[in-house]
Amino acid sequence: MKIMPNRMDYGFLKYQHEFEEKALAVLRSGWYILGKEVASFEENFAAYTGAKCCVGLASGLDALWIAVKLLGIGPGDEVIVQGNTYIASVMGITINGATPVFVEPDAYYQIDADKIEEKITERTKAVMVVHLYGHVADMDKITAICKKHGLKLIEDCAQSHGALYKGKMTGTFGDAGCFSFYPSKNLGAFGDAGALVTNDPELAKEAKIFRNYGSEKRYYNKVAGANSRLDELQAGLLNVRLAHMQEITQERQHLAEVYSRELCQDQIILPQTRPDTVPVWHQYVIRVDRRQELIDYLNEKGIGTIIHYPIPPHLSEAYQALGYTRGDFPITENYADTVLSIPLYTDMREEEQRYTIDCINSFT
Ligand SMILES: *Cc1c(COP(=O)(O)O)cnc(C)c1O
Repeated sequence: MKIMPNRMDYGFLKYQHEFEEKALAVLRSGWYILGKEVASFEENFAAYTGAKCCVGLASGLDALWIAVKLLGIGPGDEVIVQGNTYIASVMGITINGATPVFVEPDAYYQIDADKIEEKITERTKAVMVVHLYGHVADMDKITAICKKHGLKLIEDCAQSHGALYKGKMTGTFGDAGCFSFYPSKNLGAFGDAGALVTNDPELAKEAKIFRNYGSEKRYYNKVAGANSRLDELQAGLLNVRLAHMQEITQERQHLAEVYSRELCQDQIILPQTRPDTVPVWHQYVIRVDRRQELIDYLNEKGIGTIIHYPIPPHLSEAYQALGYTRGDFPITENYADTVLSIPLYTDMREEEQRYTIDCINSFT
C-alpha cells in the first residue's frame, strides 16, 4: 500500500460536483475580483468563527503582516511569538521591520504562557499566538497577560480553523485572527487565499481599504496599501468547502482519536490535548528520538511522513541576523529534532489508517 503524508485529491473528489458547479458559475459570471462570492464568504466565515467581521485576503502570510501593520507595529517594536512555529508567523512580524521575540513551547506544542511575561520589555507591542497543528494555546492566561500589559493580541489560525477554547473559536480572542486557506489547510482553497477576522469594525474597514491599493473609492488612494485581494473563484470554492466544515473537522477528530487509541509503541510520544479545548488536528504529530530510522522504515513500507518543522525560525538562514545559536531555545530545538507528522487527510480510508498504525506499532 502507498500512503501519502497528505493528499488533496480525496478532499476534492468528495465534493467534486459542488466544486465544479461553483467554478463554472464563477467563470460564467464575468466578475472575478471583489464580487458577491467574496462578500458572501466574508459573511459566512465571520459567522462560522463568531467574529464580527471578516476580510478576505490573498494568503495567510498577508493576513499576518497586514494585521501587524494595521495594529501600528513597525521598526523598533517587539512581538512575542513561539519558537517552534512555521516561519510565516515570524515573517508576518519582520516584514514590518518589527523584531520577533521567541518563547519556548509547552507540552501541547503551543506558546508556554508561563514564559511570556519574562520576555516583555518596554518595546513589546503584541503577542502573536500560533495555534499550531490545530491545537489550542492557553488563551485565558494569554489574554490576561495582554490586558495587564496593554499588548495587542494576534492569533495565527492558519492551522486551527474551528478549534475551540472553552467553546470559543480560535481567532476571536484578540485584535485579529489570521487564517490561511492554502490547499493543504483544514479549510483549503484551490490556490492561495487567506482572511483576517476581527471584532473591530474599524480594523476590518482599514484592512478592506489596504488590500485594494489603499483605495475605498476607485482611483482615490487613502493609504499606500497592497494588492492582497481574495479572488471570486477561490471565495466561491471556499464557500462550498465551508458548508461542509463540520463534517471535515469531525472526520479529522475521528482519525486522530483512532490513532491515539490504537498506536501502541513505547518509542513514540503521542500528542496530548489541553483540557477545555477542542483541537482540529491539522497534523497528527508524534515525537520519536530515532526519527530518521522511523522515517526510513515507514518509507520502505510505502508510508510518507513530514517533519513540521525541521529548522526552527531562530536557526533559519533567513534570520541569521537575529544572532541566535543552537542551544538558545532547547525545547524548541528538541521538538524540531523529534517531531513527525503521520498521514491524516480528508477521506483517509480506514484500511490506509489501519496499515499505517500496524506498521508504526511493529517498528523495532
Ligand atoms: C500556512 C501557514 C501560514 C501561511 O499561510 P500562507 O497562506 O501559506 O501564506 C502562516 N502560519 C502558519 C502557522 C501556517 O501553517
